Amino acid sequence: MDYTRISQIEKSKIYAEERNERISFLSLAATVKGDNTGNHLVQYDNGRWQCDCNYNQTRHEVCTHIMALERVLANMVKLA
Ligand SMILES: [Zn+2]
Repeated sequence: MDYTRISQIEKSKIYAEERNERISFLSLAATVKGDNTGNHLVQYDNGRWQCDCNYNQTRHEVCTHIMALERVLANMVKLA
C-alpha cells in the first residue's frame, strides 16, 4: 500500500471519529424487520422521518422502527 493510500485511510478514521462535526445525512432509506409484521421501509429526508408501518402512518409519531435507526445512527440524524 502506498503512502497516499495510508494517508487517506488515516484521514477517514479522523473524519469518522469527528462524525458529528463533519457528516450530515441528507437522506437515507432502510428496512427494519419487525417482530410480527415483516420489513418496514423507513426513510429520512431533509430532517423528516417516515415509516410505512401503521403506527407512523396513522399517528404521524415516531415509531419503534425510526427509534431503532436513530439509535443505530447514534444521534447523527434528528428525530422529527
Ligand atoms: Zn414504523
